[in-house]
Amino acid sequence: MGELRERTLVDLFGALEGKYGPNYECKYYPCHFSGQDCSFCYCPFYPCLLYDLGGEIKLTSSGYVWSCENCTWIHMPENVEDVLAVLSSYSRQQLIEEDWYFFNRILQELYYGRELGVWEGKAYNLMPAMLKKGCEQLENAEFLRIVIEDFEIKSVHRCTSIEGEGVFIPLKEGEKLFGLLNGNFVVCKI
Ligand code: SF4
Repeated sequence: MGELRERTLVDLFGALEGKYGPNYECKYYPCHFSGQDCSFCYCPFYPCLLYDLGGEIKLTSSGYVWSCENCTWIHMPENVEDVLAVLSSYSRQQLIEEDWYFFNRILQELYYGRELGVWEGKAYNLMPAMLKKGCEQLENAEFLRIVIEDFEIKSVHRCTSIEGEGVFIPLKEGEKLFGLLNGNFVVCKI
């Protein structure tokens, strides 16, 4: 287990044991908004790969990351309550052993009301969750295949078909999302 995931589980178990709310002692408080809940400073759903939450792919000197700087959802006290209500129904051991998909499905159910991503063989297609507003068909379009290992992004590949293993998400350019929806190349609004 990587350092990032270990720290994430420490935060999660602390919150499940009642240690949650604003962390006024933190020198970065409030890093999102005043009154934010800091229980999930390290988010259990990272990297969620859902642009709707405010995150996006960024290339840093140490590789690709999912930037969460614009995500406020996970810091809203009412959402923290909902996340804790769901995750407290699982044993600590299960929360340690479960994979990225387990947590992402829970996040989708909390945020969208149901899972919108679909398995296509060994590929997990998240594009149906995000390609939904003001979509126009295109002749062709590129989107992204993301390879995740131990809750970290290992590699990002541009592609034009859903093949192989990985999580498939739209390519984001500004406020536009490019991808494949029901077999058609589309450009949609975030
Ligand atoms: S965008 Fe929000 S919900 Fe998604 S991984 Fe980042 S902090 Fe968690």
